[in-house]
Amino acid sequence: MQAILKLDVSGQPRGWLTLNEAITAYARGGVLYGIGESLAPVFGGIQRLTGIRSEIVLQPIIALEGRVLNHFTPPLCNRTLFRRDDHRCLYCGSQFRRSDLTRDHVIPISRGGTNKWENVVAACKRCNWLKDCQTPEEASMPLLAVPFKPNTYEWHYLAKERVLADQMAYLSQQFKAKRDWAS
Ligand SMILES: [Zn+2]
Repeated sequence: MQAILKLDVSGQPRGWLTLNEAITAYARGGVLYGIGESLAPVFGGIQRLTGIRSEIVLQPIIALEGRVLNHFTPPLCNRTLFRRDDHRCLYCGSQFRRSDLTRDHVIPISRGGTNKWENVVAACKRCNWLKDCQTPEEASMPLLAVPFKPNTYEWHYLAKERVLADQMAYLSQQFKAKRDWAS
């Protein structure tokens, strides 16, 4: 199902809308502007007086009225975490299916590590077991990449499996982390 990227008035990504949510926003008049090539028109009901079918043309990115938040805290979940790490175990470097990956705490929780983006990586079950409750240095298992906290543009990309070309172009302008984002 195609999703519409929602922006606030300042242009910061603020979530993904379903087509129905986007249509509702248009109907309410809450859309400030749209970006990108128009999607196939969505037809609504037939107007009783004119007999004409209403039609809404959606754009893949829309800015809505509302509050502008200055701080964005990207929610941490395994699905986005594993996408950040390209479904690669950051210890052995192999790629795995989502179900074969685990969330590893670089500094283990038992050693004072926290459950933050900067302290978690995707790890295969074997490497997670081998590392156990050690630091990478103690286990002699150096990380292959530095774990980073995604900014709002990066997080919105990671949160969606399928992103349209216009949406990717918009989000990728603000990608900061060194990662092969196209893969
Ligand atoms: Zn591994």
